[in-house]
Amino acid sequence: MADTNKVSEQLAVFSDVSPALPALITQYANHTAPHALMISGQFGFGKTTLASLLAQALMCEDENKPCGACRQCVRVQNRSHANMLVVGLQDKQRSVKVEQARDLLSDLAAYPFSAGPRLVLLELVDMFTPQAQNALLKAIEEPEPSTYFLLTCVNERAVLTTIRSRCQLLRLPAWTDEQVERTLIQQGLPLQESKNLASLALGSPGKALQIQDDKAFWAIKRLVDEVLTPGLTLQDFPEASKRFKDQKDNAGLILDTIEFSATHLASTNARNHDTMSFACRLYEGVVEARRLQASNVSWQAIIDALLLSTIEE
Ligand SMILES: [Zn+2]
Repeated sequence: MADTNKVSEQLAVFSDVSPALPALITQYANHTAPHALMISGQFGFGKTTLASLLAQALMCEDENKPCGACRQCVRVQNRSHANMLVVGLQDKQRSVKVEQARDLLSDLAAYPFSAGPRLVLLELVDMFTPQAQNALLKAIEEPEPSTYFLLTCVNERAVLTTIRSRCQLLRLPAWTDEQVERTLIQQGLPLQESKNLASLALGSPGKALQIQDDKAFWAIKRLVDEVLTPGLTLQDFPEASKRFKDQKDNAGLILDTIEFSATHLASTNARNHDTMSFACRLYEGVVEARRLQASNVSWQAIIDALLLSTIEE
């Protein structure tokens, strides 16, 4: 749903997450924005939404920019704006190739832009090959007048230093549970479900939305919650081992879930010594399990070692 209300709600919550945002919005609205801005943040922290808000501020024809409702804003939201070029991973692509970067450059040279500012969005520039990044360097360094580059990335270190040094950087931090909860409620989720998802999302509203309908996640979470409790004893071990036995295909998800569970237990039970020490054992168990995984140890051996390491002697 594209409307003024939604955009102002998004702006409010993003300004809370990233206090630098209101000034940036003004710069984009006044066409005095940095010629290249890189938004960095983990999966689900809101890089794409933020890039869209800035692009709307740049293109908006309303007085109150971004209004989220005018033709220009709607075109940005739909990625159909004539003055906006987007390059990023295409279906199943693992990296953006130099050919795509060259196509962008020739588009930029030949594109029949209408009057007004232009925006080039490079999505997950850390997934561009070094050759592709290199090919874009000059365009980012000396952009055409009224051309603004917006880059997003997860891993800043995978972006060439030469590119990084030419961009203003906006780092999106992990969101607080309250901020995640607020944004979920804005999106129409019920209060209790929003609270519950926010507590599981590790600061990522995108992650909260992703796990919401993920049946595999909830099944694994139930399994982990039922088996890996502070009360786990040696007597329970054979049964516990059996329950994880056939889950080899879910190994990655199981370890992620156990790690999450450890973090969650530690953050909500800081004063309870027994629970804290259980959370530490869980966490160390996961670290060791990942090490064993990398050495091609069998899943059964990995999970058994992890279960035994969480049982207190
Ligand atoms: Zn607008």
